[in-house]
Amino acid sequence: MPPSELLRSIRPHDGTLLWEGPVAGPSAVAEAVARARAAQPAWARTPLAERAGLLRRFAELVTARTEDLARTIAEETGKPFWEAKGEAASVAAKVAISIEAYGVRTGTTERPFAADPAGAMQAVRHKPHGVLAVLGPYNFPAHLPNGHIVPALLAGNAVVFKPSELTPATGEKLAALFAAAGLPAGLLEVVQGGGETGAALAAADIDGLLFTGSAATGAALTRRFAETPHRILALEMGGNNPLVAWDVAEADLDAAARVVVQSAFLSAGQRCTCARRLIVAEGPGEALVERVLALVERMRIGPPFAEPQPFMGPLIDGRAAARVEAAFAALPGRVLLPMCRPDPALPFLTPGIVDTTGHAAPDEEIFGPALQVIRVRDFAAAMAQANATRFGLAAALLGGDRTLFDRFWAESRAGVVNWNRPTNGAASSAPFGGVGWSGNHRPSAFYAADYCAFPVAGIEGTRPHAPLATGLD
Ligand code: NAD
Repeated sequence: MPPSELLRSIRPHDGTLLWEGPVAGPSAVAEAVARARAAQPAWARTPLAERAGLLRRFAELVTARTEDLARTIAEETGKPFWEAKGEAASVAAKVAISIEAYGVRTGTTERPFAADPAGAMQAVRHKPHGVLAVLGPYNFPAHLPNGHIVPALLAGNAVVFKPSELTPATGEKLAALFAAAGLPAGLLEVVQGGGETGAALAAADIDGLLFTGSAATGAALTRRFAETPHRILALEMGGNNPLVAWDVAEADLDAAARVVVQSAFLSAGQRCTCARRLIVAEGPGEALVERVLALVERMRIGPPFAEPQPFMGPLIDGRAAARVEAAFAALPGRVLLPMCRPDPALPFLTPGIVDTTGHAAPDEEIFGPALQVIRVRDFAAAMAQANATRFGLAAALLGGDRTLFDRFWAESRAGVVNWNRPTNGAASSAPFGGVGWSGNHRPSAFYAADYCAFPVAGIEGTRPHAPLATGLD
C-alpha cells in the first residue's frame, strides 16, 4: 500500500464506504515517532496519580459514548451491535484493571535492606521504555490495541498506534477519545496503513512494539527485531485451539452444544481463541455432534444492526471470506455441514463443519467459521490430539469431573485453559497469552504492565557507606 494511496474502510455487511484517509509512508511514520519522543519525557515525569486520573477521564468518556464507539466498531467489522457494545465496554473497563495491574505487577517496593548494617533501603521502582508502537488486528479493533495503549500510557510511555488497515475508522475514534479526555499532544500518535506502514514503524526510532495479530506477521517482526535486542517486542498471535468433550452428561448436552457453537463461531470464527477442533469420544461423542449440527441450523447470521440481533455477522472482507472458504474446502475428511457463501458479493459465510478423523489436517489457523471434528478412542488420544499443534493459545474441556479436568489442565499446552466454558471466554483481570506460536511469553491483559515498564533496583543510603570495606584500613 504505497503512501500516495488512499486507505478505504468498507462496511463488510453492505460494501459501502465508511472512512477514507491517507496512508502514512516512512516519513510520516518517522514524524509521528519524533512527536511521540518529544512528548514522552514530560509525561514520564507526570505523577502516576495524574496519569491514572487522565485515563479514568478517558474511561468515563468511553462509557458516556459507548453506543457511538460500538456503532463504529459494528459498522467497520460487521460484528453484531450487541457484541460491539461489549467490546466498547471492555475499552472503558481496561483502565481500572490496568491501574490495579500496574500496582500489583510493577509497583514500588521500598524496604530496609537487611544486608546493610548502616540502614540502607532496598528499592524497586519501574520506568517506562519510551516510545512504544502498537499494531492492532481487525477483529477487536478497539479493545485489543487499547489493551496495549492504556497500560503503556499509564506506565509513562508515548504510543504510536497503527490500527489494522481494515479498521482505520475505529482506530481514529479511539484516539479521538483519548484526546477528548485531555491526553497531551504527541502521546498517542496514529499512523494509518497496512503492512508496509507497520514495517516502517517497526524500523523507526521506537523502544518497543506491542503486537496483536497473526503468527506470520509476528514471525516477520521477530526477525526484524533480532538485530535490536534492546527493544522490547510483545506478540499476541493466533491459535488452533482444541475443545475436548468427554463424559458430557445427557442432561448437559444442550448446554454443551451451545458452548461448542460459541467457542467455534462467535465473531464468525474471527477470534484468536475460537475452537478450531472439537475432539470427541468415538461413539458417545455422536450425541453432542448431532446437537451442535442442529443448533447451527437455528443460528441467525446477519448484518450488525438487524433485529432480532444475529449471533454472528460477515467476515471482515471478501478476501478473508475467500481465504476461509478455500481453507475449509482443502480440509481432508467428511463434510458434516458445508460452508456456504449465500451472496458472492458480500463476505457472509455460514459455519462449516468437517470430520477430519484419521486425516492429517494442516496445523494452520483458519480465521473464520470452520470447525473440525476429531473422534478418538480414549482420553489419552484426546490429549494427544489437543496438543498436536504448534500453537498454544486456548483449550477447553467440556464435561468430566474435577479429576479429569486436573489431568486436562496438567497436560494441556495452552495459556488459557477453561472447563465447561467456551474457549473464547477470558477475563481481562487475568493474564492473556499463549505458548508455542501463539506468543513470545509476554502475556497481555493483567500482565501487560510487565512489558510496558522495566524494573530499576537500587540500594539507597542517606550517607556514603561501603559495607564490604574489609582490607581497606
Ligand atoms: P495481521 O497479522 O494480518 O495484522 C496485524 C497488524 O500487523 C495489522 O495492523 C497489520 O497491518 C500489521 N502488519 C501486517 N504485516 C506486517 C508487517 N510485515 N510488518 C509490520 N506490521 C504488519 O493480523 P489480522 O489479520 O489483522 O488479525 C487476525 C490475527 O490476529 C489472527 O491470527 C488472530 O488469531 C490474531 N489475534 C490474536 C489475538 C491474541 O490476543 N492472541 C487477539 C486477536 C487476534
